[in-house]
Formats: sequence, C-alpha cells, structure tokens
Amino acid sequence: MADINFFRPIFRYCLLLGLGLFFQGQGVAAEILSQAERGWLQAHPDIRVVVLPDYPPISFLDAQGKPVGLEQDYLDLLEQRLNVRFKKVIPTLAQRAANSPSEKQADMLTLFALTPERSKHWLFSKPYLDFPIYLITPEKAPIGFSLENAGQLRISAVEHYATYDYLKTRYPNVHIEAVGDTCLGLQHVAFGVSAGLLTDLPVANWCAEHLGLKHLKIAQSIDFRYQMGLAVRNDWAPLMAILEKGLATITPAERDAIYARWSRNAFEDSIFETYRHAFFALALGLLGLAIYQLMQWDKVLKLALDTRVQHRALNGRQPKPAAMASKTLVQSNITAFAVIITVLCGVFALAYVQYAKASPVLFNSIAVLLLSIGLFSGFIFGKLLSRYDADSYLNQLLKAIDERQEFGQKLSLSEARLAKQQAALGQLAQRQLQSWLTPDEIFREIAEVSAKTLNVERVSVWLFSDDREQLECMCLYLKSSQLHTVARPLQLGDFPCYFEQLKQHRVIAAHDAVRHAATSEFTACYLQPNQIGAMLDSTIWLDNQVIGVICHEHIGGVREWALDEQNFAGSVADLARLTVETHQRRLAETALRKYSETLVQMVDAKTLSLQASEQRLSYVIAHAPIPILSINISNGEIAEFNPEAELATGYMRQDVVGQSFIGLLVADESQDMMLSMTGRLRKGEDVRNIEIWLNHATGKKVEFLFSACLMAHDNGAEADFVVAIGQDITQQKLLQASLVQAREAAESADRIKSMFVASMSHELRTPLNSIIGFLGVVLHGMSGEVNDKQKDQLGRAYKSAKHLLALISDVIDISKIEAGYLNVYVESFPLKPLLAECIQTVQAAADAKHLAIRLACTEGLAVASDRKRLYQVFLNVVSNAVKYTEQGFVDISVQIEQDKVKIIFQDSGIGIDAEGLAKLFTPFERAESHLKIKTLGTGLGLYLTRKILTQLLAGDITVTSKVGEGSVFTVEIPKQLLAQNIQTSLLTP
Ligand code: ADP
Repeated sequence: MADINFFRPIFRYCLLLGLGLFFQGQGVAAEILSQAERGWLQAHPDIRVVVLPDYPPISFLDAQGKPVGLEQDYLDLLEQRLNVRFKKVIPTLAQRAANSPSEKQADMLTLFALTPERSKHWLFSKPYLDFPIYLITPEKAPIGFSLENAGQLRISAVEHYATYDYLKTRYPNVHIEAVGDTCLGLQHVAFGVSAGLLTDLPVANWCAEHLGLKHLKIAQSIDFRYQMGLAVRNDWAPLMAILEKGLATITPAERDAIYARWSRNAFEDSIFETYRHAFFALALGLLGLAIYQLMQWDKVLKLALDTRVQHRALNGRQPKPAAMASKTLVQSNITAFAVIITVLCGVFALAYVQYAKASPVLFNSIAVLLLSIGLFSGFIFGKLLSRYDADSYLNQLLKAIDERQEFGQKLSLSEARLAKQQAALGQLAQRQLQSWLTPDEIFREIAEVSAKTLNVERVSVWLFSDDREQLECMCLYLKSSQLHTVARPLQLGDFPCYFEQLKQHRVIAAHDAVRHAATSEFTACYLQPNQIGAMLDSTIWLDNQVIGVICHEHIGGVREWALDEQNFAGSVADLARLTVETHQRRLAETALRKYSETLVQMVDAKTLSLQASEQRLSYVIAHAPIPILSINISNGEIAEFNPEAELATGYMRQDVVGQSFIGLLVADESQDMMLSMTGRLRKGEDVRNIEIWLNHATGKKVEFLFSACLMAHDNGAEADFVVAIGQDITQQKLLQASLVQAREAAESADRIKSMFVASMSHELRTPLNSIIGFLGVVLHGMSGEVNDKQKDQLGRAYKSAKHLLALISDVIDISKIEAGYLNVYVESFPLKPLLAECIQTVQAAADAKHLAIRLACTEGLAVASDRKRLYQVFLNVVSNAVKYTEQGFVDISVQIEQDKVKIIFQDSGIGIDAEGLAKLFTPFERAESHLKIKTLGTGLGLYLTRKILTQLLAGDITVTSKVGEGSVFTVEIPKQLLAQNIQTSLLTP
C-alpha cells in the first residue's frame, strides 16, 4: 500500500491544480445571492451557530478556546462566500444531554443528522460532509476479516452515533460493544478488547495519531456513510436557501484540501491485500509474457544470425542489416509494450480504487490521457529500440563469431606448433643425457632442430668470451643448404646496444629486426647482406649471468614471432645452458678425480715415509747409547723403555712398561721436582737438563740428567706422550766433585806460590836496592876514584842490577795481582799532568834519539782511577814507544767516548810483526827485532800492563802495528772507576 500512498498526493495535487484554475474567479457571494436574500441577511446580521467543542478533528476547541476543525473550515468558507458572520455558540452539557438545542438558543446547527424529532424544529440542508465508514481492526487480524465473518468477536461502535444503530439493525448477530467515543473504541481495538471498530476515517485518524496507536488497519469498507448537513431554525427558511447556495460554491478541490488538512491516514489499508491475488496473477502473467518475449527474441535473433551467416557464406559479404527480421522484432516489441501498458492500466486501476474514496472527479479522464501517452510513446520507442538493438547486437554477435573462428584457427595452428616444439625439446633433452657427445655436437644439434622446428633459415649458438668482450660463434646452421658452419665473433665495441639488451632479456623477439632497438645495429653489416627480416634471440643464463645467446634469423621480410615460438626459443636456450653446465660439471669432476688420485698417492707416499721414519725412530731408540723412555702424560705410565734405560736402571722393559714412572723409578727426593716438571710438560714447555735421582733395581740411587718434551702429533691432535732422554751422571758427578776439589787445591797452591814469589821478590828487592845504591855511589866516584875499566864493569853491574830490580818489581806486581793482594786507590785527578809526568820521565831517552814526543789532551780532563797504577801503565807504553822507535815521533792523544777515555800512543818505530803481535801480552815474550839485544827488556811490561788494566782498572789495551811503520797502542779506561768493575784485588777508597 505504500506505493498507493505515494501516488495519492501526486494525483490529488494534479487535480487540485487543474480544478483550482478552472474555478478561479468564481464563487463571489454577490453573484450567487438574490436581492431578497442579501436583504434578509442584512436584516439578520447575527446568526448564532451551535458548534461542537469535542468532536475532533471535525469540530473542537484549540488551545485558545477558539472553535477549529474540518467543519469550522466550511463555516469560514461560507462566511467568505456569503459575506455573513456566524456567532459561534458552544452548547452546555445540559444542552448536549438534551441532544437538541431549542431555537431560543441557536439559529443554526452543524453536524446534525436528520432525525424525525429534530425535523419538528429544524430545516436540514443537503449533507455537505460525506465520510465513508470503515471497519478498523488490529494489523494482525486475518486477511478478509469482515463484519460478515466476525462471529462472536466483539465489534465496537460509538454509542449514540449512527454507526451504532446501523450495526444493530444491519448485523443483528454481531456482538456489539458500545463505547463512549471513537478514541476509546480505537484503544479497545488496539489492546485487543474488541476485534474491530466501525468509524469514519477523519475521527479515527485523529484519535490514532493523538493516542499514538499503531498496528491498526482498515479491514473493510462499509456500505454506510456519515452524511452531515446544516440545520436552520424552521422559521428561518431563507437562510437555508442561502446556505445551500453557499455550500454549492465549495469546490471538490476545496473539500479535498480541507479534508487533507485535518485528516492524515494513520492505518494500513488491507484492501490491497484483498486484491493481492489479482496482483500476483498479474505479476505472474507479466513474467510469463516477459519470458515468452525473451524466447521470441532469441528465436528471431537466431534465425537472423543463421540467415546472415548463410548469406555471407554464399555471397561473401554482409547482408543489409535493416532487412533482417526487423518486422518480427517490431511485432514482438509491440507485444512487449502492450504488456507494459497493461501493467500501467493495472496500477491506474488500483490508484483509482484508492483515490475514488475521496474524489473520483476527472480521475478517469486523466488516466485515459496518461494511458494514451504511454501507449503511443511505448509504440514509437519500442519500434526504434528494436531496430537499433537488433542490428547492433547482430553485428556484435557476428563479429564475436568471426573472432572466435579466427581464434580457433590460431589455436589449432598454435597447438600443432606446440606439439612439434615439444617433440623437438624432448629430442634435444634426450641428447643431453648422452654423455659421449661434446658440447659442440649438442650445440649443432640444438641449432639444427631449432631451425627445423621454428622454420627459420639461420640458427646460431654464441657464447661470451672469458673477458666478456666478444661473442664467439659455437655453430651456425643454414637450413636450406643443411650446412653447419661458424660465424665471425661479435665485438662488444661494435654492438654495445645489442650486448646491453642481452643482459636484460630472456628472449628478444625482433619481429622487424631492422627497426627493433636491440637488433637495428646489425642492419648494414649483417641484416641487409643476409636479407634477415626478423630475429628471435634467446639468452643463455648460468649463475645469474648471461653466458651466451641462441639467434634464430628469419630470411625475407618481417615475421611475427608467436608466443609459443618465443617460449620454445627460451626453452632451447635453457637446454644450451644445461649443455654448458653439464660440460663444466664433467670438467670439474675429471679435475676432482685427478686431484683425489694425486691426493691418495701423496697420502700413500706420506704413510710410507712415516712408516720408514717410525722404523728409523724405533731403531734409533733401540740402539741409542743413551737411556730413552716415553711416558703417557695422561696417566704417567711408562710406554717405552729402551735397552740403554734398562742398563742404567737395572729394570727390564717388560717390568716397567705400564708402571707409573714417578711411583716406580723416581726417588723420593726428586718426586716433587718431577711432578712440577710434568706440569710444565703438559703446558707444552720443553724441559732440559734436569737432574733427578732414580731408583735402581738394586735399591741404589742413580743420578740422571734428563731432557723431555711432549710429542706433537702430525694432525694437530693433542699430544699424549712425553719422550724423555736421560743420561746417568752419577760417575760424572763424582768426577766433577773431585775436580772441584783439585782445582780449589791448585788455586790455593797458586796463591801460596804467588805469595811466596811476592815475598821472595820483596826479600830480593831490598838487598838489590842497596846493591844499586852502593854501585851508584861507587860509580859516581863518591867513595873514591874508579878507573875506566872499573867504571865499565861497575856500570854493567849497575845496569844488570837495575834490570833485575825492574824484573823483580814486575814479578812482585804480577804476583800480587794474581794473589789478589794489590790494592786499588781511587781518586779524581787531571789526566794531562799525569801524561806529562810520564813524558818527562822518558824525555831524556827521547832526546838522545831526537824523537819528538807530542801530547794532545784537553785541559782539565779529569778521571777517577788509581793514579799510581795508571802512571805505571802509561809509563810502560810510552817507554816502549821510545824504546822501539829509532827516529821520528811519539804522539799521545786522548779521546773521550761517553763514559770512557781512550789514550792513544802512536809511534813511528820498528813495528811488530804478526807473530810478535800474537805473543805481545804473554809473559817473558819479546818480539824478534834487531833492537831485541840492544834494548833491555823483561817481556813482562805489557803482560803486567794488561793485568793492571783489566783486573784493577776496568780497562783494556789493544794494539795495531805494521813492521817498519810503527805501532799504535790504545789504552781504554772508565772515566769513573767503580768498585764493582774491579775484578780482583782490594779496593781502597
Ligand atoms: P820489554 O819491553 O821489557 O821487552 P814488554 O812486555 O814491555 O817487554 O814488551 C814486549 C815486547 O814487545 C818487546 O820486547 C818488544 O819486542 C815489543 N814492543 C813493545 N812495545 C813496542 C813498540 N812500541 N814498538 C815495537 N815493539 C814493541
């Protein structure tokens, strides 16, 4: 019903609009009333009208107490039209109770139905309000419920209302429930007290809206209506005529407007449901018609299509589209639109049923008009559509069929190609398994099979060079001549773009090789000379790197490479990759095999050498002249024990192997040391020359000198054996002890000898000094005149005594030094005066030979040493220089080096030969020379000098010399002599 409600106001407003226009400018009071009537009205200016205060929405009081409602709108219209003024009187309760006000109280009544009683006093107009009466029931009441089939269910009606009487007389069997007013009656229905209420719609709508009652519906339209008119005092007949005229001016549109203002439909209308079956039948009919229409269309289209296909097959061209089946189509479309129009009629019929309740005027004519427009436009539109649709649809269909046929042909071609390609791939894959074929042979086969399968003239296989700078042709197959050959290499520099593209694509399908970006570089040098029009290149990839390409070259114009052909080319490239891969793997396998054979040989050789070395070692251990044993480091047990060890310890190998080395062999006093030695060995340290005591089998103890180390394994595994090599040093130790004793005895004897020599020399020196003294006295004639002969003899004796004294002095000094009895007195003194003193001592001898003695020494250079001993050293060296220099010079110079002082004595003397130099510091040795006899000497000077320097003064003396050129003696002493540097003797500060 919602649809009907939607349409209803639209129709209504259309009608109001038309009728409003029609009646515009009419209904003026002056024109409808006669002179007498207007006069009567003037004579009766106040017309008292009784209005009901409590009959909404027909007549009731608003919030301000002003009468309002549907009926009041009629009175207002009458006042306007008739130019009268109604004085509205609200009846008292008593008057209401009397149900008929007397003419004393009112001139006019509204909403009064004509009754015989009332007609005694009142004149009644024709009814101006006409409300159909409906049966309102709960929404859930069964469809088709009506007063006729109400049975014992209670039906409400408002007491005193005409409906009540109507119900009573018309439906005597209905169980009537009298209610006070419509609102109460509706509530009874809503809450299930009664099954229905007989009422007019405006009042029922009002009550339902104001009480908020829902879920109620109009169940039945009753053939009874409320018709209410105006009543006028029976002595005011002219007024009745006036009012009738006034009421006649009120148009249906105005009536509808008033009705719409005061009454809004609050109920579901079940009348639709009454017609529901009809609607369903209609819908089913429509559906059937639509299906029939579709089948019809399908039949027509099929026919048209077949005709066209046949026509085209016969004539080779399309027939004129418009000529085909249009007639049939138009007919069928007209049928379709007739159906649509039928539907429209149905809708309008329904609308009529609804709308006619209020106002049927003009509805029919408008409906007919709309139907005509629908029919006409439907016909035209349908005709146009059918023609257009059919043609375009047919054309599309034909196109689709053509495409399908074309596609089918392509598909079958492609299937045939695929079968061929699969067979070719199978054949090539089979060849891969034949290990005796070389890569070149497989490449040749790939090229040939590819060329035949894809029907291409030239197929070539290329691989990159090691430096990836060029592509080298492995093979080139020419199909027409069935020839296998090779092409020249391609340089990267010549075709950079092509090389670059190879890195980016799996397959390069150059349908037009001259224009394709990747292959256009070949145009002049390759494509045109060979008449190549299209190229299909599939790249060979290995380890994410492109290693080559297979080129399929089509001769004679461009060629569209189908997708399956491109895939085939890709698969062929994969097979080529497999060839390369297999070849590389075989090479690697061969190399590996060789390598492993070499390895086995090396291992064998190594094993042999190890065995030999082991045998040698066993031999060495068995025959070594020293005791050797090996000990398991983890448990300390003896593992190996050689015969020499058996000899040294008295134990046999079989008795000691497996026994604890420390527990069995090591003597108690050496066990601690042995344990600490084991610790060091475990850490990987070598232990050398450790002396330990071992238990001998006889119960004695023998001392051993041991060296041991952990035996490292060749394979780097942790070492577990210690090899110990020992030596019985018991005898050696005893010998050593006796030697020490002997040396100590000898040293003591030597000291005694030195002391003896020293004291003897001293004893000799005293009388000798006296001899020299007296000889000097006699020689110088102090004890009397001596003749020349005596002088000569005394002189010889004097010289010999002096020489003897010098000899004795040296011997004493040497002896004291060796005996450790020579004291050292350290003091600080300037060096230069000391040297000058020495020079002065020998100056006379030098002058006698005309020798120049030169001294170069820094003034103030001081040393801390024993001055007396140093003087003795310098004097000895200087006097030697003078002694063994016949002419020339003696130079003395001083050099300071860090904390040392070097005093260099250089002479231009006779020099010393190598033999002399070797014995220079040996006691009593004098170098051979012609001066040996001429000069007096003991051969002790330099020996003593070196002893003083090295043993007392922490210095040294060195010499270089050349025979005939001279000698250089260098004395080196510390600037500061420290006590700890003195080797022997006593230090006296
Ligand atoms: P002596 O001078 O008493 O023989 P020395 O021990 O002082 O004993 O010297 C040993 C020998 O060294 C001398 O006999 C001499 O042959 C040689 N000798 C020493 N000094 C010089 C020198 N300056 N030039 C050459 N020969 C020298």
